[in-house]
Amino acid sequence: MIQAIVGANWGDEGKGKLTDVLAQQSDIVIRFQGGANAGHTIINEHGKFALHLLPSGIFQPGVTNIIGPGVALDIEALLSELDSIMQRGVPKPRLLISDRAQVLMDFHVLLDTAEEERLADRKFGSTKSGIAPFYSDKAAKVGIQVCQLFDKQLLKERLRNSFVKKNILMEHLYHKPKLDAEATAEKYYALGQRIAPWVCDTTQYLHQALQEDKRILLEGQLGALRDLDHGIFPYTTSSSPLAGFGTVGAGVPAGKISRVIAVTKAYSSSVGTGYLISALSGQEAEELRKRGGDAGEYGAKTGRPRDVGWFDAVATRYGCRVQGATDCAMTNIDVLGYLDEIKVCVAYSIDGHEVRDFPATPQLAKAVPVYVTLPGWKDQKVRGITRYDDLPENCRKYLEFIERQIETPITIVSNGPRREEIIFRE
Ligand code: GDP
Repeated sequence: MIQAIVGANWGDEGKGKLTDVLAQQSDIVIRFQGGANAGHTIINEHGKFALHLLPSGIFQPGVTNIIGPGVALDIEALLSELDSIMQRGVPKPRLLISDRAQVLMDFHVLLDTAEEERLADRKFGSTKSGIAPFYSDKAAKVGIQVCQLFDKQLLKERLRNSFVKKNILMEHLYHKPKLDAEATAEKYYALGQRIAPWVCDTTQYLHQALQEDKRILLEGQLGALRDLDHGIFPYTTSSSPLAGFGTVGAGVPAGKISRVIAVTKAYSSSVGTGYLISALSGQEAEELRKRGGDAGEYGAKTGRPRDVGWFDAVATRYGCRVQGATDCAMTNIDVLGYLDEIKVCVAYSIDGHEVRDFPATPQLAKAVPVYVTLPGWKDQKVRGITRYDDLPENCRKYLEFIERQIETPITIVSNGPRREEIIFRE
């Protein structure tokens, strides 16, 4: 059985926490896209962690964690993440890396940074982790697969070829030192040796696991609205965070994904460039930002303050739709307990017309939110509750209102950042 945990919004919905919870009932957790360019915050018995590349199943001793072929593998980032969690007392996780995953190298980061500098105020809000140049190389078929790290000659040849065009850019467009294929090949050959014990044909491993009825969890990074095709292009990432892409990026049969849990927050948050139609500003925004998540709404990767706003049912209904969500997990419901009234964005007004279907970016740029206001559950206890029916009445009404708006059942409610703060709705 395969379940996917994916984002319904712009990322940072709390997927890491959900994966950590559901990993307790799983045999395998797989990252299927993206790289070290986002962070999943997890708080459990070992402490608080911001994972970037490691799958969130690493805290469960029996779970096998897989870096799938769709991931942008930054080997140094992976090794330092592994070191840092093990230094903090987490037992050595079981890890497998696809031999077909491609390697994100130093020069991808250099190119990403140089390009953002060149774009200046027209930039896309990259985390400068090399993701766009990495996926460009992959599409141009000049990327390096993990299996190619073990043949130094092949590695050198491929890098030399790839650097011909890149060095024209480095020299004449970015005015930076040229890239050195020999030195890069030496470095990544050595790094390849370090990860060699974990490298295998993970697609074959998963095929076998499915025959043995193993429970598999696909862990998405970012959210639907950052999808390269379906998101707020060009303020998207360069891969697909959709559950459907899990079949490609993890290497599992499409028909075998039986549950897609789209994770959404009780309010909106988005980091980086783009459009957040229901954004708050000024004091109202500051108050929500300060109270959100486990320590305020600041990017787990970059520390950048996130834009925050009211729940956007237009964007989330679309996010659930493109994810093919079977059900939804809503996190951070505890955060809203300070409000007398809570607004929900139920439509956009664009050029005087009310729009309920999430539009493409040029229309989005003109959208103004249409709100419905619901009563809050001010000062009533939400954290510590373990049964849905024990939540304050207005809190349940809020969840049920949203559920109707997004046309997807909310089956899991997270009422605090810790692993045990979770309500499974009957
Ligand atoms: P991810 O990338 O989707 O895993 O999300 P992040 O880790 O970037 O952001 C989610 C934030 O919300 C983190 O600070 C989590 O610790 C926090 N969080 C998750 N669930 C809850 C919850 O139910 N309540 C509160 N207060 N914080 C939560």
